[in-house]
Amino acid sequence: MDKIRMTNPIVEMDGDEMTRVLWGWIKEILIEPYVELRTEYYDLGLPERDRTDDKVTIAAAEATKKWGVAVKCATITPNAQRVEEYKLKKMWKSPNGTIRRILDGTVFRAPILAKGITPYVPGWKKPIVLARHAYGDIYNSVEDRVEKGQSAYLVICDKDGKEVRRSCIHDFTSDGIVQGVHNLDASIASFARSCFNYALEHKISVWFGAKDTISKTYDHRFKDIFNEIFNEEYKARFDELGIEFMYTLIDDIVARIVRSEGGVLWACKNYDGDVMSDMVATAYGSLGMMSSVLVSPDGKYEFEAAHGTVTRHYYRHLKGETTSTNSVATIWAWTGALAKRGELDGNTALCDFAAKLEKATIETIESGYMTGDLIPMFNREGVTPVKLDSRQFLKKIAEKL
Ligand code: NAP
Ligand code: MG
Repeated sequence: MDKIRMTNPIVEMDGDEMTRVLWGWIKEILIEPYVELRTEYYDLGLPERDRTDDKVTIAAAEATKKWGVAVKCATITPNAQRVEEYKLKKMWKSPNGTIRRILDGTVFRAPILAKGITPYVPGWKKPIVLARHAYGDIYNSVEDRVEKGQSAYLVICDKDGKEVRRSCIHDFTSDGIVQGVHNLDASIASFARSCFNYALEHKISVWFGAKDTISKTYDHRFKDIFNEIFNEEYKARFDELGIEFMYTLIDDIVARIVRSEGGVLWACKNYDGDVMSDMVATAYGSLGMMSSVLVSPDGKYEFEAAHGTVTRHYYRHLKGETTSTNSVATIWAWTGALAKRGELDGNTALCDFAAKLEKATIETIESGYMTGDLIPMFNREGVTPVKLDSRQFLKKIAEKL
């Protein structure tokens, strides 16, 4: 068989720990034997980010703007312990945060469903697609510690630095902490439009929740922008398709989601999306079964897995033990990128290959071959699940492929 050729490259962002190991194996076992892979490679592994003063992350994001399609491996977001472990120059920011900021995109996360993997919430029959606003809030915050006797203010200045307004956050009568967060109308608006566009494309309703009763200016702004854009630009088309947009408080949404049968797009503010996507992924089966894509308002795509670098498995791998780490979400990052590249370049063979690889992966699981994380939740009549290690699982998919 001739290998499938590619016209334009995919921006490839390598990562850290166990997912970096899987990254290499997925390419070796499932992609390179079939595709004449063309990528523009950026090493976002922590040592290289440290060596380049994180410039490699910015270069990778800029390359995504240029080429339109990227695939990203999970990366470590350093904390104090990582600074020590990797002897870092400083505590570099989250690469995902940096990329999201540059692309100003929205992250959509959807569970990968396979027969036999039943959700923990038995009522969930269809995927809940989670849209995470990828800009601002605590991910670009300024924080400080405040000592007893000090005061913190929120001060707004004009472009010459002249004070316009000042409000007291707190007069500290004991030691404490303070945080400043921001967001932009334009970013919230493009988030709203991305969600409504996704909903139209996939014919699903949009639910959005924030805490406008408590956050009367900040969260209320999200609510107003969503409502305005929906009523002015989308309502008619939603009515035609029989789908709806609902805004209600975030706590109410959480309750409704649990009671629902799925099949909705849940729009979340940045932090809610971070937390709730892990909850939804786990409830559908495993973090390893959640796909993720960042879509920018001008149609640039970055595909990744929703989970992290699976550190605990990596430490076992380093000791020479085999691990049974689920590679499905990382495979989906690759198939998503290959299919999108094929779509943009009019490369049908590449799109077909991506679809076949996904099908082979699902059929492998449905026929009983899977990684350890899926075993406890697998329940399919007549099929006894077999636990494979990380590499065996990929080889089994290759057999089907
Ligand atoms: P994690 O890597 O997602 O792993 C948490 C736990 O979930 C694992 O220990 C494992 O449980 C299970 N798990 C996650 N993915 C799995 C998979 N593919 N197959 C099997 N089990 C899986 O989260 P973390 O341990 O909190 O974070 C580790 C590092 O990843 C951190 O440095 C963090 O900064 C980074 N991170 C990166 C991204 C990203 O780049 N998108 C996202 C989140 C976190 P068991 O150990 O019980 O098997
Ligand atoms: Mg998270």
